[in-house]
Amino acid sequence: MSNPYLRLAAPGVASLKPYLPGKPISELEREYGVTNIVKLASNENPLGPGKRALDAIQACTDSSLSRYPDGGGFDLKQALGRRHGLDPACITLGNGSNDVLVMIAEAFLQASLEAIHSQYAFAVYPIAIQAVGATGRAAPALAPGSEGAYGHDLTAMADLINDKTRLVFIANPNNPTGTWLRAEPLRNFLEQVPQETLVVVDQAYAEYMDDPDYPDCVDWLDRFPNLIVTHTFSKAFGLAGLRVGYSVSAPGIAQILERVRQPFNVNVVANAAALAALEDHQHLARSVELNAGERERLQHGFANLGLEYVPSAGNFVLVEMGQDAAAIYDALLRSSVIVRPVANYGLDQHLRISIGTTSENDRLLDALSQVLGPGDNDESDGG
Ligand SMILES: *Cc1c(COP(=O)(O)O)cnc(C)c1O
Repeated sequence: MSNPYLRLAAPGVASLKPYLPGKPISELEREYGVTNIVKLASNENPLGPGKRALDAIQACTDSSLSRYPDGGGFDLKQALGRRHGLDPACITLGNGSNDVLVMIAEAFLQASLEAIHSQYAFAVYPIAIQAVGATGRAAPALAPGSEGAYGHDLTAMADLINDKTRLVFIANPNNPTGTWLRAEPLRNFLEQVPQETLVVVDQAYAEYMDDPDYPDCVDWLDRFPNLIVTHTFSKAFGLAGLRVGYSVSAPGIAQILERVRQPFNVNVVANAAALAALEDHQHLARSVELNAGERERLQHGFANLGLEYVPSAGNFVLVEMGQDAAAIYDALLRSSVIVRPVANYGLDQHLRISIGTTSENDRLLDALSQVLGPGDNDESDGG
């Protein structure tokens, strides 16, 4: 029976499909009765938070927890201003960067307006657009087999811009594809975008990038006043459970986002942990180094299993299973390994696999090898 309240919902909300998160460890335990679970489904830092962040969390006193947080986020904005060499007035704090993405949609979109994203871009963009009744336009991704396959096609995105386009979402690097955009094409794209169209460059995975041709778009804010750059503490900083993210933009944009921001959207513990995590350069470096080494090893492992993958710049790899991926996902669950189906992106033959610790990745490769069985590329199985 259909939900009788649906006709009461706002039109954008009535047709909205909710975000599908990675399966939580506790849910798999409950549903399948398995233990010793490896979760490689939500691009979390497998090392967890650093010691400094953990110490800061533990140092939160009873009296700090019973008070509302500093709604203005003074200390964290100061620290982030220093991190990026900018006035703290450029920073907007969010309950995860997801919160900031939603604020941007709420503040700048309405039913008569449009927003553009790429076909296989972060699922939150179309949801944020549709929830406020605006029209989302997905630009076809670069075709499989071509250079940058599955990634953003900036020409196709530019072609969708018209006088109703208020927002463009670009993830660099992108999730779930792991593809990324180089400085020159991205700068050329920004040069074509009209001033009335705001461009959000989502840099959730920026910390993992070391290619000199990767642009930190924060450096371009002066040149492109319609640019908003988002960052998160959920990935390389290892604080996904605390929910902290932020945007960097012209102060005028930040002032408008402030109008729709919930007054206490970043809690006391999250504030303290994020501040400490920013100081923990060692933990960040260790996290990035582990990821780079294990990404290389995992990608080799996939190739050895005869699987194609999209070369990744992030802390996850999009792997092509060559068949409907749902059965493989389920078989991996039964082996206590959680990965991420991406059929909701229209990629029903792919799985997105987050990069874990060495032992977690070994467990994944073993389980995957078992599930796929001996194939053409399995050279070892002599009897
Ligand atoms: C994970 C992710 C985020 C971060 O979400 P939070 O709400 O900050 O946890 C943002 N953008 C992309 C592309 C992501 O993959």
